[in-house]
Amino acid sequence: MSLLVVGSVALDSVRTPRGEIREGLGGSATYFSVSAGLFTKVRMVAVVGRDFPRKHVRFLQSRGIDVQGLERASGKTFRWEGEYGKDLNEAKSLKTELNVFQDFRPELPEGYRGSRHVFLANIDPDLQERVLQQVEDPRLVACDTMNYWIASKPESLRRILRKVNVFLLNEGEAKQLAQEDNLLKAARSLLGFGPSIVVIKRGEYGALLFQGNMVCWAPAYPLESIQDPTGAGDSFAGGFMGYLSRRKAIGERELRRALVYGSIMASFCVEGFGLMRLGRVRRGDIAGRYQVFRNLTRF
Ligand code: AMP
Repeated sequence: MSLLVVGSVALDSVRTPRGEIREGLGGSATYFSVSAGLFTKVRMVAVVGRDFPRKHVRFLQSRGIDVQGLERASGKTFRWEGEYGKDLNEAKSLKTELNVFQDFRPELPEGYRGSRHVFLANIDPDLQERVLQQVEDPRLVACDTMNYWIASKPESLRRILRKVNVFLLNEGEAKQLAQEDNLLKAARSLLGFGPSIVVIKRGEYGALLFQGNMVCWAPAYPLESIQDPTGAGDSFAGGFMGYLSRRKAIGERELRRALVYGSIMASFCVEGFGLMRLGRVRRGDIAGRYQVFRNLTRF
């Protein structure tokens, strides 16, 4: 079933202890779409500038992503520069140039308005809201954010959180937003903001899902070498939402499995710089890792 995403499409420059990449294809909507595109048809809503290389659009199309909602505006493409130290769980943003996102007023193509599943990827919460308002009758809405928006647009963020079912964010952001160091208490406080499900991603320590009094956890897929964690959170969300969008029911069993699919997609993402690995994943690769997960968590 249909899955719509709004988020950033970016040119990323990233440095990690393993190397660096300059102006590679990135952005929250990009990582999400490439990941979720292995599960279902994804409709992308975002904006790029005139400088955006056409080969990137062709790449997205080659992964089956619907780019009708990807606008090309006059101005420069969004650029992000980040760095990771030894702690690969936390990115340090060195530069954020919003460029064409500053004046972006998304209008959904007519065919997108009936989308049943929506992912509001990390972007200005006002843009997230504007897109959500145009979707007629969504079945499941999830949203992500980052410290940049927690600090600069707290009111807008609180407003959108009242309208979503699932809130995915990383550990540092959860603690920052809830102003609480204990993760269980932080999750409880975030549930109070509106969403019925909160997913807290903890990088190499896995991910926790909270719904009512239910808590469940999936470990991170064990890897010997991590090249570049950029996009791991969005790839996680892509596996999570991509899987759920294909299920008839969304109960505890499906949510537990969605956590595993999220972890699998994040594991592919971090194995290469930018989209080097994630962009080449096939469905069979996912099934292989799913079996490893079964053995990993059997007791
Ligand atoms: P992740 O590592 O999954 O949290 O997301 C990484 C992606 O987020 C990168 O590809 C960046 O282009 C994108 N990004 C970084 N800062 C922002 C921001 N303030 N708004 C939207 N996207 C951003």
